[in-house]
Amino acid sequence: MDKKVIIFDFDGTLADTFPVFVEFARGEGLDCGPEETEDLRNLSIRDVIAKLRIPTWKIPFLTAKFHGYFKKASPRVPLFKGIVDVIRDLRESGRILAIVTSNSRSNVENLLNRDGIRDCFDIIHSERSLFGKARPLRNIMRQLRALPNDAWYVGDEVRDVEAAREAGMQSLAVSWGFNSEAVLRASHPDSLAFEPSELSSLLN
Ligand SMILES: [Mg+2]
Repeated sequence: MDKKVIIFDFDGTLADTFPVFVEFARGEGLDCGPEETEDLRNLSIRDVIAKLRIPTWKIPFLTAKFHGYFKKASPRVPLFKGIVDVIRDLRESGRILAIVTSNSRSNVENLLNRDGIRDCFDIIHSERSLFGKARPLRNIMRQLRALPNDAWYVGDEVRDVEAAREAGMQSLAVSWGFNSEAVLRASHPDSLAFEPSELSSLLN
């Protein structure tokens, strides 16, 4: 079956959640001043965790706590400028759209409902493990019978590019989220976008 499937990451790709993440990290006493924060953009999330000296056992606890913090902050979390139009445009041109996120499903749905694009997405998968995105990506591809060349994962982090590669699909990295352009390039995505308005032409 020839279906073009586009799966998006949420935080840093569709929604500008980084300021809320930094607020949360500072509230947790993590070393996240303005300079440190800029440095973090050049690190993969594995290295961020190491640099902030977060013990591995604490990650699920902090993730759950962040989801709660995000829920309260979500009314002031915007989708990136242009994203609503891009999503509608891709949907209208017949693309099947999905989301694989490390955020919670309800947080994602609240923001999409608020901006009127929830119905554009067929599947929203919340993945608990920070490094476990490849498996749901593979499952969605199987479920939708997508071909590797016609399936994209769009994300703002090195781990998104790696997950797409591991799942055997195309990767599109976006430079307006968490990781810097330099580290994204070094992870060799199949494509790179610098602003949301480019997504329509890159993915159509
Ligand atoms: Mg992200």
